[in-house]
Amino acid sequence: MRSETPRKFRPGELAPVTGIYLVRHNPPHRAGHEAVIVRGETLPPCRTCKSQISYEILRVASHITHDWDFSGPSASAPQRDFANVRRAPRFNLHLPVVVQLARASGKGILQGVTQNLSECGLGAVLEGKLGQFQKNVSITLKTAHNGNSCVLQAHLCYRNGLHHGFEFSRMSSEQKKALRSVMQEAAGEK
Ligand SMILES: [Zn+2]
Repeated sequence: MRSETPRKFRPGELAPVTGIYLVRHNPPHRAGHEAVIVRGETLPPCRTCKSQISYEILRVASHITHDWDFSGPSASAPQRDFANVRRAPRFNLHLPVVVQLARASGKGILQGVTQNLSECGLGAVLEGKLGQFQKNVSITLKTAHNGNSCVLQAHLCYRNGLHHGFEFSRMSSEQKKALRSVMQEAAGEK
């Protein structure tokens, strides 16, 4: 059963899901080909046809380290090794998060729990859905024990049900420091 034509993504957009994508070049200096792209990555332009390239999702697959059964708190692999922050900057940390909509009207707050956290952004499951028009938010992260916290400006990059992905907007060096200490504390916590 063939439904509507699949959505095509352009260079510069963020990959909405992890999976195998069909990459088409225009002009077709190269036959269409498949590529694995990880959710949240920026879709790159082609060296030859620049932005005249399209991406189409062929098959969704989960990245093994983003999969709960392999990355959850009880995973046996050495985890939360903070020394690895540069090499593997994304941590599967579960911290309470408060998302405040930039519009200060009505119910402006959603609470949730982070699923992963890096210095560039975070993934979180929120109690409600953010719409496209609520793209710009301010996010408060807090650790359970010492109450380290930081407030960061971010924008929504993807949403799938209650799963939301945010990328942090420009960050001051103080904010960076605060985020790092929240991550460090969380990584050292039970
Ligand atoms: Zn090309």
